[in-house]
Amino acid sequence: MGRFTDLYLRRVFRTIEKNKLVENGDRIFVCLSGGKDSASCLYVLKRFIEEKGVDCEIKGFYINLDDSPEVIEPIKRQAEMNGVELVTVEPPNILDYRGSRPICSVCGIAKRYLMNRVPREKGANKVATGHNMDDFIVFFLKNLVGKNYSWISNFRARVDSTHPKLLTRIRPLFNVGNMEDLRFCKEMGIPFTEKHICRFKSKECGYNRKRENWYRTLYDIEKWNRNFRQQMISAINDISPLFRKDEKLRECSLCGEPTSGEVCAYCRIFGNFDMLD
Ligand SMILES: [Zn+2]
Repeated sequence: MGRFTDLYLRRVFRTIEKNKLVENGDRIFVCLSGGKDSASCLYVLKRFIEEKGVDCEIKGFYINLDDSPEVIEPIKRQAEMNGVELVTVEPPNILDYRGSRPICSVCGIAKRYLMNRVPREKGANKVATGHNMDDFIVFFLKNLVGKNYSWISNFRARVDSTHPKLLTRIRPLFNVGNMEDLRFCKEMGIPFTEKHICRFKSKECGYNRKRENWYRTLYDIEKWNRNFRQQMISAINDISPLFRKDEKLRECSLCGEPTSGEVCAYCRIFGNFDMLD
């Protein structure tokens, strides 16, 4: 293994150990999108479990929104390469959405809902995502200027469950960013797609372009402040517990999933019809 991949692995392993992301008896679903981050997330988790001899089951999880083979193929190969089962759901209602909300927000709400409900119903106790250091720094800055302070409490490598039906969420890539994930996948020969993954790109809502600017700015700062991203994520990790969210979760009166209101955001958009079986 090269020097870079070695350093990368050691850094992610340290994140996993320090935050107890993987424990004996865990059943973890790893959300796969086809991209580099979730590809690396699955690979590193599997490798950690094998090297450390942790008694833990891992599965890949994929929400297929009628995606192209360019997205589906790498996901299948990732599952194969790591020797894990791939659980796929194909929710028809997102594609059929004809309401007035921006599709990015509808898609995000649906994915967050499915990423908790489906793995839990299939026996998981944790769900892993490929959110990386750069994602959290950008979320942090956006939520800071937007004064959505309570969200900042979630910007951690591990977010513990606060309701019996809510899975603990883990983010093994909390201390590595886009550039590192890309290079790691390339050097390790891990299959992924560089295609933009949003299914609704044709309905361009402007989210993506703005997001690119934020990411580029991080790397611009890093040109003259070499450890900027590392310093930022370390600071975010320190202060996020100070932004506690005191919302009490209860069960949605339509679907029974955890929510802070009477009816969850998913049911408010799609109504309650059970397409998950
Ligand atoms: Zn609901």
